[in-house]
Amino acid sequence: MSLMDMIQRWFGGSKPTTSTTRSSAAETPTSATTTQEKTQETTQDKAGEKAMSINIHPAVDNGVQPGSDSFTGGKLYCHCADNKVEVTVDAQCAHNHVCGCTKCWKPEGALFSMVAVVPRDKLQVTANEDKLQVVDSSAVIQRHACRDCGVHMYGRIENTDHPFHGLDFIHPELSNDKGWAAPEFAAFVSSIIESGTNPDEMGAVRARLRELNLEPYDCLSPPLMDAIATHTAKAKGAL
Ligand SMILES: [Zn+2]
Ligand SMILES: [Zn+2]
Repeated sequence: MSLMDMIQRWFGGSKPTTSTTRSSAAETPTSATTTQEKTQETTQDKAGEKAMSINIHPAVDNGVQPGSDSFTGGKLYCHCADNKVEVTVDAQCAHNHVCGCTKCWKPEGALFSMVAVVPRDKLQVTANEDKLQVVDSSAVIQRHACRDCGVHMYGRIENTDHPFHGLDFIHPELSNDKGWAAPEFAAFVSSIIESGTNPDEMGAVRARLRELNLEPYDCLSPPLMDAIATHTAKAKGAL
């Protein structure tokens, strides 16, 4: 099985529908470059402006906020004005990262989602659960979204053979509580092209991620990829 097949198997399900093209914030004007503008100084200025205009995710665009070692969980809310879906998490999150895949819920205008895991037995829907529906029941991760505002409240893996079974995926930004563990890396970076990012922008996007100390990977981070491979090797007796 190829790596991409495996990724598709772990995270995929049905192929994502074609997304709308990203907003102009991620695009760079290509016209109107005059000879004078090609001086070294102006090029550096332009590079700086470009980095500022890359909307990775609102929670990191002004710098990654550190988490708190004493944090023990909090509540997540959907974006509805009233009758909000409320999810209570009685644990700090782990493996927080920004994700460029086409499946994770992203806030308006952001190139990446922010997603982390918590033990599934530490997560409970504590209000308006009737508003939740599964986005794609064929996907490995069953993403439970609010049917009114569309926000994904948690993702759950029901396949007990999956290496990440027992962990639920959450978007910590949905919480007003401070102290959630900070994002550590960027996953599925190349996948933002599938959502409409110009491939020519990828150098600038990866540079911005490195500037934020969110090392860019085109799948998951090496420790998580190793965990998946170890699980697969044990399942087939190679380890
Ligand atoms: Zn809602
Ligand atoms: Zn994702």
